[in-house]
Amino acid sequence: MFDNLSEKLGGILDRLTGRGSLSEADVDAAMREVRRALLEADVALEVVRSFIERVREQAVGATVVKSVTPGQMVVKIVHDELVATLGADGQTIDLNAVPPVAIMMVGLQGSGKTTTTAKLARRMTQRDKRKVLMASLDIYRPAAMEQLAVLGRDLDIPTLPIVTGQKPAQIAKRALEAGKLGGYDVVLLDTAGRTTLDEEMMSEAAEIKATANPHEVLLVADSLTGQDAVNLARAFDQRVGLTGIVLTRVDGDGRGGAALSMRAVTGKPIKLIGTGEKTDALEDFHPSRIAGRILGMGDVVSLVERAAANIDAEKAARTAERMRKGQFDLNDMREQLLQMANMGGISGLMGMMPGIAKMKNQIAAAGIDEKILKRQVAIIDSMTRAERKNPDILKASRKKRIAAGAGQNVEQVNKLLKMHRNMADMMKAMGSGKRGPLAGIAQA
Ligand code: GDP
Repeated sequence: MFDNLSEKLGGILDRLTGRGSLSEADVDAAMREVRRALLEADVALEVVRSFIERVREQAVGATVVKSVTPGQMVVKIVHDELVATLGADGQTIDLNAVPPVAIMMVGLQGSGKTTTTAKLARRMTQRDKRKVLMASLDIYRPAAMEQLAVLGRDLDIPTLPIVTGQKPAQIAKRALEAGKLGGYDVVLLDTAGRTTLDEEMMSEAAEIKATANPHEVLLVADSLTGQDAVNLARAFDQRVGLTGIVLTRVDGDGRGGAALSMRAVTGKPIKLIGTGEKTDALEDFHPSRIAGRILGMGDVVSLVERAAANIDAEKAARTAERMRKGQFDLNDMREQLLQMANMGGISGLMGMMPGIAKMKNQIAAAGIDEKILKRQVAIIDSMTRAERKNPDILKASRKKRIAAGAGQNVEQVNKLLKMHRNMADMMKAMGSGKRGPLAGIAQA
């Protein structure tokens, strides 16, 4: 299904991963190609737009971790956004309700509704060990009722006896009563479809829903119809209300647009996919697996994930080790100040702590406000490497130079050095070095 798209995206991203550096213009050029590939795959325009925008934003702002190329980072971002577009994993049929749980199947004629009803009944019976009753509500096509009865006989799953002259909502009621009397866990209601979306079909579906009060309303949609399937889903959801979507003919050569747009446009999850004509060809929908299949770059994605996890762990371990040895130099302090500034400084942290806001001024005076943090970083930045490693060499002339470089006065440089000494002493005293300087400040 995603062959074409997969090939295109693979090509575009392969070219990126090989490069040592990426400019904003490179990212833009690649995004233009990705956009074209998605549109060619029949993904809805609104979905393409927001997808590209999100990827671009992250790709341009991403900090590249050591041991991966910028292009590899972009692959990871595209992958994650594909997963987000497809929806979360693990959205499956919910049977958590008082039995018999009613599940209503809706959709156009020929979309695979009856086949999917039988597939679902088979899976619930054989895999989930549920007692399932199937009922056809298609009074317009006796052949459709017979089709479900035949499938039921083949699978050894009971179907509701056919009684002519009843309306669909009456049949639904009868099915649920039979379900209750017969001790069934699940009752599957296969409703009638028409060849096009029309009001009659919608109002009938709405009436059945009102009568049967189904726990799930599943739209069965043919993935080969691309955007039409998405529009259908939107219409059904607005008029009848859906709990999920089953995408059929995913085994065919559809371009994938329906699968990629469905979730974003309707907000409803794809719960199952039909992958063949046989009654065992039904699978759960796994966004992460599908995204992996579309990109075909699983190794790059996991490489970036590992690298990102490593880099944080390595950095933390190195700092902890240095603190344990009492080697807390100005580079380490710079790191800690930046971390605090990233959290919005103490004022940012305090916003999250009720009652402490009163202390704000005192804390700002103590030099831990965000702006002050940045100024302190600037002082450290105008020191040489040797000075940062060994602040003891900082005599008057050096301090003057540093103050001028940071646009501040010597007093502020002295304050910073004093703060460093206090922090270093504190680190040493804490021994293990597992707690950051914030712990000490909070106690002060
Ligand atoms: P309904 O009118 O919506 O009930 O559609 P049917 O269940 O009768 O299915 C119409 C045709 O589509 C049948 O020939 C099915 O075998 C076929 N079909 C249904 N689901 C799938 C699928 O996932 N893959 C393929 N290849 N064919 C399917």
